[in-house]
Amino acid sequence: MTDTEERIPMTNDEIMETAQELVNRYTPETIPPCRICGERLSMQAAGRGPTIYACSGDYEDETGRRKYRAGRSVADEHYSNSRWEQYRHGDRLVMKLVGQLLADRGLTMPQVQADRAW
Ligand SMILES: [Zn+2]
Repeated sequence: MTDTEERIPMTNDEIMETAQELVNRYTPETIPPCRICGERLSMQAAGRGPTIYACSGDYEDETGRRKYRAGRSVADEHYSNSRWEQYRHGDRLVMKLVGQLLADRGLTMPQVQADRAW
C-alpha cells in the first residue's frame, strides 16, 4: 500500500473471514487423551519439528520417586502405540490480538474449522 492509496476499512464480514483464517492457523492442536487407556499424554520431546507426546505410565509416589503403573514399564508397547505428534503449536499472541480486535467491534471469536486447519 502506498501513502497516497486510500485506506478502505474492512467490513465486519471481511474481518470475520480473516479472523477465521487466523484462528485455523494459530489455534494450537488439542492434545488428545491416550488412545489405549484414556490417560493424559505427557510431553516426551520438543524442539525442531513436531512435539512428541506419549502415555508413559509413570508417576511420582508420595516420596517423589518415579514409578510405573501396574503392567507398565519404560518405553513399553503401550508407550509406543500411544505416541502422538503435535504439528500445529499455535501462537497465543496472535490469538490474543485477534480476540481483542474482534471484541472491540463486538464480534465473537470463531471456532477452529478443523478440516481447514494447517
Ligand atoms: Zn495410555
